[in-house]
Amino acid sequence: MLKFSMYLRKQRLLTPGPTPLHPRALQAMMGADVHHRTDEFRTLYLAVLADLKEVLGTTHDVLILTASGTGAMEASVANCFSPNDRVIVCSAGKFGERWVELARAFGLDVLVLSAPYGDAVTPAALAAALAANPEVKGVFVQASESSTGSIHNVRAMGEIVRRTGALFIVDAITGIGTMPLDIHGWGLDIVIGGSQKAFMIPPGLAFLAVSNKAWTQMETARLPRYYFDLRRERKNAAKGESAWTPATSLILGLADVLRSIKTMGMEKLIANAQMLAEATRHACAALGLELFAPSHPGAAVTAIKAPRGMDSAVIVNEFRERFGSVIANGQGEMKGKIFRIAHLGYFDAVDLFGVLAQLEIILEILGVPVQRGAGVAAAEQVFIRQTAEAALAV
Ligand SMILES: *Cc1c(COP(=O)(O)O)cnc(C)c1O
Repeated sequence: MLKFSMYLRKQRLLTPGPTPLHPRALQAMMGADVHHRTDEFRTLYLAVLADLKEVLGTTHDVLILTASGTGAMEASVANCFSPNDRVIVCSAGKFGERWVELARAFGLDVLVLSAPYGDAVTPAALAAALAANPEVKGVFVQASESSTGSIHNVRAMGEIVRRTGALFIVDAITGIGTMPLDIHGWGLDIVIGGSQKAFMIPPGLAFLAVSNKAWTQMETARLPRYYFDLRRERKNAAKGESAWTPATSLILGLADVLRSIKTMGMEKLIANAQMLAEATRHACAALGLELFAPSHPGAAVTAIKAPRGMDSAVIVNEFRERFGSVIANGQGEMKGKIFRIAHLGYFDAVDLFGVLAQLEIILEILGVPVQRGAGVAAAEQVFIRQTAEAALAV
């Protein structure tokens, strides 16, 4: 609950998932008194699958699961591998560690290629590991590691993995809508998304784009699976149905949001996040704040180090109590050390100007020497420059 304040405070969700909801999708979700085994729903579901394919820019099969993003991660492990299969996980943060835990939970023989938090595993390291371990059946990575704000070079990695027998399985849950992903061209065998990130609807749906190479490996894979059986899901999807009762309200919202993304163009949604991320980095420089992942910064979220000697939870709490804004702390070992500003999905420049103004006021109150207005001005400068460039390009 918000503490009493003499002024209005709107509640604002400013985290890298769940992200702010698209107003039209919110309205669409209220029509959820539909049954999923009707022609009406089948028509909708087929349209959603087709739009999702188009928005992801892929010819691969696209499936929807009723689960958070981790459900699709689990499905990719359970469907593609057999006990003791050797796999490589490229891990550079909390979500990379999730791949490690998940693959081990299913009895895979996991070789971990790790980079320090805030950094990224290099394509060269992956190429060397694959050359030394030719029996590897799969390579797992995060396109965007939301816990640190860094990204992996999935394009270069995909080109390496595609020359081997291994599947390249990409958690793009915060990569979709924040970076270009050429699923077929780069050899991405499974690409995973989640509804509560750039798709601007609540948590509860996960997406997978699945290549023919992955379908072929599934034919001989022996790990147990039931709820997340992708072959069963594919068979049902072809008829406009899901294997089990789907989250119908979310599908209704997704149908609407996909139409909006198609109208706008996926490349514009990506450019929007990239502009906001760049503006945030400039604002941090102007305020003397240090980025946590300066070498491979992504556009989903910017992780910023708390000023020396300060717990980042103090900043997070000030955002909430003073302004009603929910921003993200660090996760795991980065808790208290960083705070994260999100850019993916339904965020615009005005949201960012507001976030930076809040940050400046908070830092001043906390006694951090900042020049109030400098961060907002730096972000405005990026916005003005990029909109002028975009106008010239038309
Ligand atoms: C949000 C997220 C996930 C999935 O988390 P869920 O809580 O299961 O939705 C996985 N990977 C990354 C990189 C994420 O940002």
